[in-house]
Amino acid sequence: MTDSKRPSKVDTTGLDLATLAVRAGQVRSQFGEHSEAMYLTSSFVFDNAAEACARFTQGAPGNVYSRFTNPTVTLFEERLAALEGADAAMATASGMSAILAMSMALLKAGDHVVCSSGVFGATIQLFSGILGRFGVRTTYVDGGALPAWETALAGGAQLVFLETPSNPLTEVFDIAGISAIAHRAGALVAVDNCFCSPALQRPLDLGADLVIHSATKYLDGQGRVLGGAVVGSKALIKEQMVPFLRTAGPTLSAFNAWVLLKGMETLDIRMQAQSARALELARWLESHPAIERVYHPGLESHPQHALAMRQQRTGGAIVSIMVKGGREQAWHVIDSTRLISITANLGDTKTTITHPATTTHGRISPEARLRAGIGEGLIRIAVGLESFEDIRRDLARGLDTVQAV
Ligand SMILES: *Cc1c(COP(=O)(O)O)cnc(C)c1O
Repeated sequence: MTDSKRPSKVDTTGLDLATLAVRAGQVRSQFGEHSEAMYLTSSFVFDNAAEACARFTQGAPGNVYSRFTNPTVTLFEERLAALEGADAAMATASGMSAILAMSMALLKAGDHVVCSSGVFGATIQLFSGILGRFGVRTTYVDGGALPAWETALAGGAQLVFLETPSNPLTEVFDIAGISAIAHRAGALVAVDNCFCSPALQRPLDLGADLVIHSATKYLDGQGRVLGGAVVGSKALIKEQMVPFLRTAGPTLSAFNAWVLLKGMETLDIRMQAQSARALELARWLESHPAIERVYHPGLESHPQHALAMRQQRTGGAIVSIMVKGGREQAWHVIDSTRLISITANLGDTKTTITHPATTTHGRISPEARLRAGIGEGLIRIAVGLESFEDIRRDLARGLDTVQAV
């Protein structure tokens, strides 16, 4: 029935990331479709009862039910694994369910997690709030100085969790250095690679064991669907994570997997273009008199600039600024925009702006907020694909009229 004699699956060995993003994982059906097919089906049929029995109970290859596997989801997993330089990936319904699935697979009561401070708010809620109820203890480490990690890991741990660069202050953590300490302490290392994506940073190459993705962000890239993934070795993913996913069911939908696949095809050029705009914007913001400080790993003034340039391809597309005059003036800058979207999402082609102290970090105590460096004047900008000049003008409207106290 197939019209083509070409192999239905591309040999990806030796291909560059930009090529993998477009080609990896695709398996054509008997119809020879050019674009990836979307398999919207809950279950799969068998030729006979014996085959059903073999697939259900004897591990025979083939799809059974979409809570377990689905060809469109599998394609997304293979493409993402190829981009991260990994053997395997497991897709999940969201970034948070990726962290949950990893934790449920690896941890048990009495275990210890060591986590970088300044991680995504829901990640703290998950580790301390939810997993804490099940007897998992989490220690947070401030800053990237390696002795602090030695201390936190001195009593041993099962999991080290890093988010680098961090949100919203773009603090950069030394993946190789911290991984070496973690491994000596017997812990696995997971890196939330949401801010960089594999186009800018490949944590497994630097010594991490697992990569977490909120595919909702840059992998989709256009703010359409939720998704997530855990990426790593076959042993960790297939033997430890997948059994949890099959049973508990935080599965990625085939529709969302398809949207994410199409998003990933432009990941490389989007990350390059958005990072370039972000750096240009950060440089301009640094010279603006209404701003106290600009946070972007690509700036020479960033405290971990050298480390960032070693482990990332660019500084990324997030820029945070501390506006003089606190909340009132920060809100003035946000409310003066006409183009940029006031929304908490990031990783979109549309530039977004948010006031962390009263939104993403609005529910933590003022003391904890201050300790985390989330001041009232802080604004986070996730730079999209509009022209630099249009983004600059939209921010200048408010910045040029800031009434600094
Ligand atoms: C958004 C985000 C998450 C959570 O992802 P969801 O897809 O919203 O569940 C985790 N980590 C980081 C760094 C994020 O930005």
